[in-house]
Amino acid sequence: MSDTRSEDTLIFNGLTPGVTDFAIVYDALKEFLEKKQSMDHSDRFNVILFQEDGPNYLEDFTLNPDNVLIALRSLEPMLARANIAGGIMVAITFIIDVFKKISDKCFRLIILTDEGSYKIPEQYVPVLENLIDQVKDMPFIIDIIRVRINDPVEDLKLLDLVRRTSGNLHEIFEVRDLLSVLDNLAEKRSFSSFSLYDDDISTEIKYENYPFFENLAADPILLAATGTCSICFKQSNVDLVQCPSCETIAHKSCWAQWAKTSNIGIFNLFRCHNCFNLIKLDKDYVQMVQSGQVPSIEEIHVEVVDLQEFQESLETTEGPKIISVEDPMAIFYRGLDDDVIVVKDDD
Ligand SMILES: [Zn+2]
Ligand SMILES: [Zn+2]
Repeated sequence: MSDTRSEDTLIFNGLTPGVTDFAIVYDALKEFLEKKQSMDHSDRFNVILFQEDGPNYLEDFTLNPDNVLIALRSLEPMLARANIAGGIMVAITFIIDVFKKISDKCFRLIILTDEGSYKIPEQYVPVLENLIDQVKDMPFIIDIIRVRINDPVEDLKLLDLVRRTSGNLHEIFEVRDLLSVLDNLAEKRSFSSFSLYDDDISTEIKYENYPFFENLAADPILLAATGTCSICFKQSNVDLVQCPSCETIAHKSCWAQWAKTSNIGIFNLFRCHNCFNLIKLDKDYVQMVQSGQVPSIEEIHVEVVDLQEFQESLETTEGPKIISVEDPMAIFYRGLDDDVIVVKDDD
């Protein structure tokens, strides 16, 4: 079964000033962002750029493409050669964090590289492979665009990484061809998935990755007071828990029922109906509720918060701040800056 979702796209601009003409890149990115926004208003965006000290990105995905374009322009004078391995690490770490807060999106990572970007050191390939294998079922898709590079060895390395997701490697020989590649990439990606509203869920998440996702999910907080369940609307003083993110109150058993239709492909991991926070309940407990062994309210009426409204509530008027972090894979590159960069004119 195939599915498309609202997408969060992170553009890792690993292109190098002086190697690639940024004016053409900006125009192509602007069209890409605007096309995606017009196709789905709930799509969000972010960008990663490298300065000498490491990668920079917006603190959160934004619904407004202008925030990305402003960040691109304001950081351009300080751009340095991008470390592709470090950028991928930071991108995935960031996306994992967002996934915990909004667990039903498709995450896209689009990486632009040219001859100025650092290659991935051989010893980091297995680290990246492992990381990607854990997160690819979020779903998470990587595409890499290589601008004017002739390097079959590096191509194979990158191809292996993108193929672990259902992404691809795109080679272009002129930066002006970026527009047509991005135009294709702007289309929604469908992926095989479990059915959200079907009882026989065929999960796409690999069993060996269950612990990884279980670690990401938060435990609900026990409420030792009287409250009203936001699912069955009954007042109660037993069995109540709260979402650690939005503090909404629900019976544990009502949430266990709701998990049936809102799990992420692992039956005891689901999103809060009032925000999109990833929550877990004990496996045995969920099973007992869903099989009727624990008395629970059969007819639950869940008022699900709207994704777009929720995302809009996260946007600030001044736009997201730019965050600078250390490059997690920087050590390898210290002292390597005398590599020759071939600077070419574009025409
Ligand atoms: Zn309830
Ligand atoms: Zn919540």
